[in-house]
Amino acid sequence: MANLKHTLKTNLREVYARVLFHTGLHAVVDRLMPRRMTILFGHCVDQAECNGFLPADMKIRADNLDRVLGWFGKRYSLDSIAGGHDKLAAGSDGKSVVALSFDDGYRDNRTALLPILQRHGASATIFLESRPLDEGVVNWSHKYHWVIAQPAAGDAPTEMFVRRYLTLSEDEAALEGLRRALEEDAGEDRLRYQAKRVMKYEADPVDRDRVIDQIFAGAGGDQAALCASLYMSWDDARALAAAGIELGGHTVNHVILSRLDREGARAEIDGCRASLARELGGGGTRTFAYPFGRRWDYNDETSAVTREVGFDLAVNTHAGTNGPGTDRMQLRRLPVDDTTPMHLLVAEACGGFDLLRRFGVDLSE
Ligand SMILES: [Zn+2]
Repeated sequence: MANLKHTLKTNLREVYARVLFHTGLHAVVDRLMPRRMTILFGHCVDQAECNGFLPADMKIRADNLDRVLGWFGKRYSLDSIAGGHDKLAAGSDGKSVVALSFDDGYRDNRTALLPILQRHGASATIFLESRPLDEGVVNWSHKYHWVIAQPAAGDAPTEMFVRRYLTLSEDEAALEGLRRALEEDAGEDRLRYQAKRVMKYEADPVDRDRVIDQIFAGAGGDQAALCASLYMSWDDARALAAAGIELGGHTVNHVILSRLDREGARAEIDGCRASLARELGGGGTRTFAYPFGRRWDYNDETSAVTREVGFDLAVNTHAGTNGPGTDRMQLRRLPVDDTTPMHLLVAEACGGFDLLRRFGVDLSE
C-alpha cells in the first residue's frame, strides 16, 4: 500500500510538472504565487581531470548547467543565497529568485563553474569545507570514491574495498553493517550506496578514518595531490569572491553535526567561519550549509550554534521553495545534476507545488 501510494504520487508529480512546463502554465502560477527564492544545489561541474572519480550524482555537465541557467535567467533573478534573501526580505516587487549553490569547494567551481556564471551574469553561493583548503586533507568519502575508481580495483571495486575494510576495522557496528551489505549481494551500485551509508551513519568515525587512510595509502593514494586536484585553493576562493560569488561555511571536516555535542559542533562551525574570515577578509560570511543537510544530520542546537557564531542564514537539502517567512536557518534546496528533469525544477520554482499544498495536496519530494 505504501509503495502504491508512492508510485501514484511520483506519477502525479510527473504529470503535473510536465503540464506546467510544456503548456506555459508555469508563468501563470508564478505570477499568482507570492515571491519566492528557489535554491538549487550541486557539487561539481563535470571536469575529468579534477573530479572524474566522483559519483555521477555529484556532477553536472557544463551544457546541462548552461541550459538550466539560461532558462531561469530569462524569467527569474539569478542571485546568491544572501543576495536573494535580501531581495525577498526587502519586500519589494520583482521577479522571484533562483539561487544556485555548490557545496564543498571543488576546484572546478573556479575553472568551470565561474565562466558559466559569468556568461549568464549570475552570482551563486559556494560552500567551503575549510580543512582541505587549510591543510590539504580530504575527508574519508573522497578517499573511498578515489579507491573504488582505480583501474586496479577490478570489476567489483566496492566489494574489494569492503572486504579490505573488514580485515582492518575493529569497530563492531561497521563490521556488522558492512557484512550485511555484502550478504545482500545486490550488485556493485547497491553495495556502493550501502557501504557509504554504513560508513557515514553507523561506523565509529575514528576507526573509519584510520581504516580508510590505510586502504587509500595501500592503493597508492597521495592525499596532498588528491586534495590539490580536487579542491580549490584560498587563492581560487578569493578570485571567486572578487567575481561576486558568495562564499559560505560548510564546517571544517564535513561531519554530521547532529552527532556532536554543542562544543564539538561549535568547533566545526566556528572553525570554518574563522578560516573564511581570515582568508577572505571583509565582513566575513553570512550563509552556512549543514553537511549532508537532511533533518537528521543537524538539529535545533546545531542551528542555534550556527547563529551564535555569526551566520544568519543556513540551508538544508530538503526540497521546496523559500518565502520571507521561511525559517532562515533551514532554507530548502533542490538538487540538480545531469538526471534532473527541467520540468520538475520549473514546477517547483514557479510555486507549483506550493500552490497544490494550499489545497492540501503534497506532491513534493
Ligand atoms: Zn557537502
